[in-house]
Amino acid sequence: MIVGEQKPIAEIIKLLGDARKVLVAGCGTCVTVCFAGGEKEVGILASALRMMSKLEKHPMEVDEVTVQRQCEWEYIDPLKERLKEYDAVLSLACGIGVQAMNERFPDSITLPGLNTTFLGLPEEQGVWEERCQACGDCILGVTGGICPIARCSKQLLNGPCGGSQNGVCEIDPNVPCAWQLIWERAEKLGRIDNLLEIQPPKDWSRSRDGGPRKIVREDLRLGSETVETE
Ligand code: SF4
Ligand code: SF4
Repeated sequence: MIVGEQKPIAEIIKLLGDARKVLVAGCGTCVTVCFAGGEKEVGILASALRMMSKLEKHPMEVDEVTVQRQCEWEYIDPLKERLKEYDAVLSLACGIGVQAMNERFPDSITLPGLNTTFLGLPEEQGVWEERCQACGDCILGVTGGICPIARCSKQLLNGPCGGSQNGVCEIDPNVPCAWQLIWERAEKLGRIDNLLEIQPPKDWSRSRDGGPRKIVREDLRLGSETVETE
């Protein structure tokens, strides 16, 4: 899932500036699951803003809404008429949701209330860890399902480096060495041969380094008559 955390309230207030009527908009998918921007968090933040408005004598009317997914037109389109009432929307969706709102409703400003942080999973209650950097060329098949791009501090494709000591990474004793994990797993699965083959330099053009990415599936586009994938 996409993991995020709420911006500090002081930053949010600064972003809102002179706005007098604000809609706090949550998203019912990833950020609900990571307790950052779902209906509950929208309610808490809206209450905090109302309280601030009273304490600071800064009149601000704050309403709330949560849609199933802020990153898809079909879920945000119903907000179109309503947005005309507001000076600003404060989105608690990830950065994709915030951009979707601004792109779809160019006459309104949607501000980010979250810092979108990473693609990860809940390792335990209240703890989320990064697991993928969407590199565009997945190598989990070689590394036994452990991602060195997201989990090795140097993003090594052939590891570990000399900084791996007692199973932890040199950057922090609380960070497991991803390559130690990869080797242990390969050993357990009898797949060491996979790792003995030197991996060539990664083609980072399929990651962010190649510029903004786009996937086009002609077979899924409206009006398509062929069933082909690109
Ligand atoms: S190898 Fe790339 S796509 Fe696969 S999990 Fe790691 S970052 Fe994500
Ligand atoms: S110690 Fe391990 S995780 Fe840290 S940079 Fe070296 S190989 Fe990567």
